[in-house]
Amino acid sequence: MLSSPKQLSFFSALAPLPNHSIHPHSIETTVDSAETNNSFPQTSGDISQSSAPAWSQDPHETHPILAVEIHPHGPRVLVHPLHGCSCGASLSDPCWHLKRALAVWEDGPSGLRYLAKSGFHKELRRGDLQAAFRWARLAAHFHGRSWPKSYLKRVLLEESRSISLLHQWKSLAGLNWEDCVQKGIAAPKKWQVPRREGLFAEYVEAFVATENDPIFSSFEQVQQAVDLAQDRDDLWRIFWRAMRRRDRFGVTWQIDAMKERAFSKSPTARLFVEEALWDTNPFYGPKVLIELLTDAWDQTADQLDPRVLQQALPNDEHLVIPAAPAYLYDCHEISGQRRLLKHWDAILPHQPMPKGVDLRWSGMLAGVCWREYAARQSPHRLRQCPWEAVDIPREVWQHATICDRFFYPRFYQQLPHPSAQAA
Ligand SMILES: [Zn+2]
Repeated sequence: MLSSPKQLSFFSALAPLPNHSIHPHSIETTVDSAETNNSFPQTSGDISQSSAPAWSQDPHETHPILAVEIHPHGPRVLVHPLHGCSCGASLSDPCWHLKRALAVWEDGPSGLRYLAKSGFHKELRRGDLQAAFRWARLAAHFHGRSWPKSYLKRVLLEESRSISLLHQWKSLAGLNWEDCVQKGIAAPKKWQVPRREGLFAEYVEAFVATENDPIFSSFEQVQQAVDLAQDRDDLWRIFWRAMRRRDRFGVTWQIDAMKERAFSKSPTARLFVEEALWDTNPFYGPKVLIELLTDAWDQTADQLDPRVLQQALPNDEHLVIPAAPAYLYDCHEISGQRRLLKHWDAILPHQPMPKGVDLRWSGMLAGVCWREYAARQSPHRLRQCPWEAVDIPREVWQHATICDRFFYPRFYQQLPHPSAQAA
């Protein structure tokens, strides 16, 4: 379940701790077995977009005709609520396309409404406007027309550092979601911002380094630590000692303690704090302020990619149910969790991912870590870059997997702790 922006998903589920996933974009889903089958059944014959069936949409019919993708970006079948599927299957003996369509028409417990959110978020990270748009349209069907733009606003700081876009979106009233999606895809992703190179390694190292440090219990302690901080490393350590509180004080104390120093370094920092842009996603507020304060941000983070802005948006006649690639599944939903638990020990850098698992575009830190290095090593073919082709330093990987436990405690409860494994 996704909470609204005002609900502060990061904090709303704080205690009792190990029973809650608190990642800012956590998508808690219950996906049934219909969604777990990632191998798309082969259809016989020549089914494509051009093989439209003889019937046309009944204007009095409340259920729309749907186009079901057979493979990602591949051919589709059309499914009609009265006449069945263009593959030949009837309503009385439904094919898997019809079962997918039923999930839309009846909004049953298929998990598709959650998968649409996950699909949108992953394609946002991949920068695939066409795919992101189709998932957003499906999500808008389930969750309302303002869902894509409000979700996008909430996750923008998680994926990008486009402060000016966040400023433009301070109020979403009057903006159409299609335009917002195009701009959100066009915004450089944080792993593409040149000055952020190396930050991820520092960030997760600081998490591990502060595991036994006391957690801050007052604003004065945070202010004193910030006043003594010499470099970004010190600020990351402060960040974790505050964030481990898992409450809003951990955020606001840092913002208040750092803001004057940040204002003197960067006019963007002033905008970020005074316009309360940080509050669109409180977890990222202090994190981004640290980056602004330590010269890890410049204008390139705000420059939207003109190639994306010039792309035509999909002009699908029917609502499309996209095919779901393996990278849509991670610890956010049941089937992804099952796959991860089964193959956990085989998920390592420099080795192909186990079948059915693909964390390249996940919000889990394995994915964040991969993208940070892949974007530097393979900037021009990032979307196609295989997992194993990316060189990730061993200690950064170890720190990332330890730090990930902070975000997904409920998932990691099912796995042994790394130190227990070593013992
Ligand atoms: Zn069919």
